[in-house]
Amino acid sequence: MSLGIGRLAGFQITVHYSWILIFMLIIIILATGYMPHHYPGLTGVSYWVIGLIAAGLLFLSVLFHELSHSIVARRYGIPITRITLFFFGGVAEMIEEPQDPKVELKMASAGPASSILLAIIFGSATHASSTIRMAPEIIAPLNYGFIINLFLAGFNLLPGFPMDGGRILRATIWMWTGNIVKATRIATSVGVGLAYAMVGVGFLAAFTGSWINGLWLVFIGLFIKGGAESSLRHTIINRALLGVAVRDIMTREVKTVGPELTVEDFVSEYLLRFRHEVYPVLVNGQILGMVSIQDAKKVPKERWRATYIKDVMKPHNMIVTVRPDQEAVEALMKMSMHDVGQLLVVDNSNLIGIVTHSDLLHMVKTRTELNL
Ligand SMILES: [Zn+2]
Repeated sequence: MSLGIGRLAGFQITVHYSWILIFMLIIIILATGYMPHHYPGLTGVSYWVIGLIAAGLLFLSVLFHELSHSIVARRYGIPITRITLFFFGGVAEMIEEPQDPKVELKMASAGPASSILLAIIFGSATHASSTIRMAPEIIAPLNYGFIINLFLAGFNLLPGFPMDGGRILRATIWMWTGNIVKATRIATSVGVGLAYAMVGVGFLAAFTGSWINGLWLVFIGLFIKGGAESSLRHTIINRALLGVAVRDIMTREVKTVGPELTVEDFVSEYLLRFRHEVYPVLVNGQILGMVSIQDAKKVPKERWRATYIKDVMKPHNMIVTVRPDQEAVEALMKMSMHDVGQLLVVDNSNLIGIVTHSDLLHMVKTRTELNL
């Protein structure tokens, strides 16, 4: 769903695919509508160049906003795995949530503060360049940079979780009540309420004439609503797994297979006998790979007898592992990042267990029900 574009300040930066489409749309809207309307009398080529530069400034402004969040997070020891840019902002993917409302407050404020700073810089540059009557090709992108950063600050300060404003609201309630789940529920409800209001106003606008703006509002509203709900889920999971280590939930008796086993024997002696779906492949205690029901399915049945596990297994370097002392939340994050359903638990390159996605979800469900 996203495209890696490199590293910056130690963070991996990726762009959500939707950005590419939005980026082109923005260039078209700027070059054919916005710029000719505000700066008439220029050539067609000029409008396209201005549109391209202005869209580039939007991209850099969003990047700067997200980097500011991430740098503050890193300063407080919260690891950011990567930054993914969406159209109105981005997501700095955190393995863990801040454990202290003051840290969350600083992290959440860093983004809007950086956008306000950029707005001031672009605003002053616009003012200076118009005073000395520079070419509109220079003034137009600068002024756009001013408007867009003002918009980024304002939009992200909307008080619905998980927007920055919502995080600030959550941190404030969290500080008052000392209860993060309660604070998240309240901030999320405000977010969902805000989202419905936007969708409602959006439909109203769409049916009373300005349908493009209306649809935008509906679209943004649905985006906020989705974000609010998934963030609430995220917080509940994080809370439920707080302090739980991988070793607490892993399965210790792992059924392993040898590389010289045939697929036929693998099916009859393992897949049909045990409930596990994946099996580590071991030789003298060394992990060679991992084999699953999917690997067996790839081999046509008539060749099961002549095909060995070592020919179909996933090799060692493709296996995702986790240490027993790592947090269960980290394991969950690793699974979703690598899109796998289980992790081998490895201590000093010895296999000591296996942890699956359903183990984790079961733990979340139990602990949530018991209110732990
Ligand atoms: Zn932000």
